[in-house]
Amino acid sequence: MPEHHSHVRLPEIPEAYWLNSVHLPTFPSLEDDMQVDVVIVGGGLTGITAAYLLVHEGLRVALLEADTLLHGTTGYTTAKITAQHGLIYDELIRHMGKSKARLYYEANRDALSFIRETIQEQRIDCDFHEEDACIYATTDRGAKQVEQEYEVYQQLGVEGELVDAIPFHIPVHNALSMKRQAQFHPLRYLAHLVQVITDKGGRIFENAVSIDVVDGNQPTVVTRDGHRVTGAKVLACSHFPFYDGQGFYFTRMQADRSYVIAARTDGKYPGGMYISADSPTRSLRSVKIDNEEMVLIGGESHRTGQGNDTLEHYRALEIFGQDVLGLKEILYRWSNQDLITLDNVAYIGEITPDRPNVLVATGYRKWGMTTGTAAAHILRDRVLERNNPYAPLYTPSRFYADPSLRTFLAQNANVAAHLIKGKFDMPLKSADDLAKQEGSVVSFNGARAGAYRDDEGHVHLVDTTCTHLGCEVEWNHGDRTWDCPCHGSRFSHSGEVVEGPANRPLQRLN
Ligand SMILES: Cc1cc2nc3c(=O)[nH]c(=O)nc-3n(C[C@H](O)[C@H](O)[C@H](O)COP(=O)(O)OP(=O)(O)OC[C@H]3O[C@@H](n4cnc5c(N)ncnc54)[C@H](O)[C@@H]3O)c2cc1C
Repeated sequence: MPEHHSHVRLPEIPEAYWLNSVHLPTFPSLEDDMQVDVVIVGGGLTGITAAYLLVHEGLRVALLEADTLLHGTTGYTTAKITAQHGLIYDELIRHMGKSKARLYYEANRDALSFIRETIQEQRIDCDFHEEDACIYATTDRGAKQVEQEYEVYQQLGVEGELVDAIPFHIPVHNALSMKRQAQFHPLRYLAHLVQVITDKGGRIFENAVSIDVVDGNQPTVVTRDGHRVTGAKVLACSHFPFYDGQGFYFTRMQADRSYVIAARTDGKYPGGMYISADSPTRSLRSVKIDNEEMVLIGGESHRTGQGNDTLEHYRALEIFGQDVLGLKEILYRWSNQDLITLDNVAYIGEITPDRPNVLVATGYRKWGMTTGTAAAHILRDRVLERNNPYAPLYTPSRFYADPSLRTFLAQNANVAAHLIKGKFDMPLKSADDLAKQEGSVVSFNGARAGAYRDDEGHVHLVDTTCTHLGCEVEWNHGDRTWDCPCHGSRFSHSGEVVEGPANRPLQRLN
């Protein structure tokens, strides 16, 4: 392994390359009540793809986005489009059997085909190209798992190849590729779908925070401003479901955060998309920035609100990049979180069995490009009462006792610990100790508070009790947000909701 090169400076402000290199139209806020065929909540890949499919069927669709389109998880992805979701098939076959494991593969393979065909037919300029996906192992344990995964590929008829090297300065034990997968610029692709939605009469609203669904003859979405949008079906495509319907989704998912840097390299990128089998996670793909080929390095996943100093995670990726490729300059850095279900398979379908008109799609485990596309098809077919072969695999009401029960208990024990943690220990710092752009838990009037000092020196003080279920939020230094370690809610430095399940801001103390 080569020596570390000297440090390359990290960009001051986190910013996602995708969002910085796409033109997205803006949309009005909702001013009236409306009646449509389908109400879609959430303007990420899932909601937009679902709206695109439904307007093609001639349905009247309203899409409500809390903020601006594509600024949720989709804007911060690494956008590998693949059915190789890390190591998963061996686990699926053990817990669900061969036919469900095969269905999982086919759902994601079909999603990739849909994206490929849509891009080709409509000539969407979004840097789509095919690459082999590859999982590599750097330990004996990882190598055994990779070998086992390869055997499962063979049982399932998945085209894969087991090799003993990859074209990087990484001493691998073995590696498993899945052929002809793909990568793209996700926002350029989705910006095109948005155009088609509006051309076909779909209505899109921004700054429309949905807060509830009320049942009548038809479900009605209620927004924070008090507007009501009614349809035969409501699709909750809001990442974390904006409405729970007593499905207890917050006990059935955890939020996991990852980091990404985009960098100019010393050497030429050798092609392919890579992910490590071992921890810490490392992910590699190329990306074209201003017509120059660069690298996207991702990884360092940890549960939201439970990592170290978040800047350290970017540094770790930088050091890895220096070792394996040599970095000249880091142009972008960003991070975001995705949701993981109890059995690692997404929840797509009726939110609960007794609320069949509210459908949900969530829990993609950082593989939402294909899973979100598959979800949009499942939701469309549910709306049209068509059969979809993949619907039973993803149904949210399933419960696979093994190993979920253990995970469930462990997860909730973890949450309980964070509910209590910190409530009683008083921080030593006070707001006066903070430098500009620094945030911390501080003691304020004899109680615990969250403080952030902005560029102008103004201190923003918030109550650190998460408005979802009362856990204590932690300061995320890298992104300058307050993150909840229990269910992944995130708040801006001044307490505004950045990401649910919370839908009310942190209480301001000044
Ligand atoms: C760092 C990282 C790397 C990743 N890399 C990959 C990868 O290489 N390949 C891959 O397949 N997947 C990857 N993923 C996962 C993938 O990006 C996500 O699974 C996917 O983008 C989720 O899309 P979504 O539409 O479900 O959610 P989002 O994109 O989060 O969209 C949900 C939208 O709903 C809106 N919303 C939320 N609440 C409300 C409300 N109350 N009212 C109205 N609107 C609301 C939000 O503002 C948001 O715009 C990665 C994820 C991360 C974090």
